[in-house]
Amino acid sequence: MSRPIQARIDLSALQNNLRVVRRTASSRIMAVIKANAYGHGLLRAAEALNEAEGFALLDVRDAVALREAGFRQTILLLEGFFTADELPLLAEYEISTVIHSTHQLAMLDAYPRRNTLQVWLKINTGMNRLGFAPEQVPAVMEKLKAHKAVGEITLMTHFSHADEAEGVAEQLERFKGLTAGYRAPRSLANSAALLRYPATHSEWVRPGIMLYGASPFADTGAQQLGLRPVMTLTSEIISVRELKAGDRVGYAGLHRADAAMRIGTVACGYADGYPRHATTGTPILVNGQLARTLGRVSMDMLSVGLSRFPDADVGSPVTLWGAGLPVEDVARAAGTISYELLCALTARVPVVY
Ligand SMILES: *Cc1c(COP(=O)(O)O)cnc(C)c1O
Repeated sequence: MSRPIQARIDLSALQNNLRVVRRTASSRIMAVIKANAYGHGLLRAAEALNEAEGFALLDVRDAVALREAGFRQTILLLEGFFTADELPLLAEYEISTVIHSTHQLAMLDAYPRRNTLQVWLKINTGMNRLGFAPEQVPAVMEKLKAHKAVGEITLMTHFSHADEAEGVAEQLERFKGLTAGYRAPRSLANSAALLRYPATHSEWVRPGIMLYGASPFADTGAQQLGLRPVMTLTSEIISVRELKAGDRVGYAGLHRADAAMRIGTVACGYADGYPRHATTGTPILVNGQLARTLGRVSMDMLSVGLSRFPDADVGSPVTLWGAGLPVEDVARAAGTISYELLCALTARVPVVY
């Protein structure tokens, strides 16, 4: 037998979560599958999400792989092309591209082909990450409309606070004002905006995290939103021992036993993608029951308190996150967000569909 860790991917949960998107917005769905579908496996996730009207990702090679696997949907590069030599590939494989900068416009000028590129014009409405400044938009729009290589233009922006109290109002108003004069499809909403602000839905929504069954909000759980976790990371206890009062656990002895206690060692560490910053007390399931981690997470192992679980022993199943234990709860204990944990699953973890 082999090391007991594995990530189980529940493709029916992915389809359930896509239906939640469908029920929430009547827009076309651009399923965001960047970062290897948030760690879930690009092609398997795309197959399960085949009802979506589009896929969004970053790497042109992944876009080509999707086409070669037979996907006919719109495929969008969220950061667009990086070098001019990608442009023929975009045309050949009918891959849509974000254009967010004058650098990209200049590369487009060097590309003579007629009516082939579907362009998503990204407007910076306040995120200040990618996109043209509001005052650039009219000139860029004119330029793109007149450009021989440009087919349909979609107008897009991205929100910085859709998951927080501040919301989207300011950016939404700015976007509406800037785009009011154009007849073009629009796309604004990530998962948080999709769930909370119907006014952002427009022609295309761009859900990511909610498809994978995690909530984008700190104050609302995935279950309340009708979402089911897609990835469940499991392992087993591979060693059990008794500690005396004063004994310490793991590197730097961060956890010290106040009294005699029983602990277990789990075959999962940061080299599997478990967050090293998860503090003592991070939730973890042993035999399906809620337990706590102890001390520092090491490369290949972590420790769990077993005093309250006399039945737990070597071979007992452990859930690190997923079904029965929201990945958001583990992320919070590690000072991060669910997105980072899901994406960080490493290549050595066997994935089972
Ligand atoms: C990642 C991303 C999304 C999806 O965001 P979620 O919060 O995961 O729903 C949508 N749009 C853009 C531009 C993105 O980069």
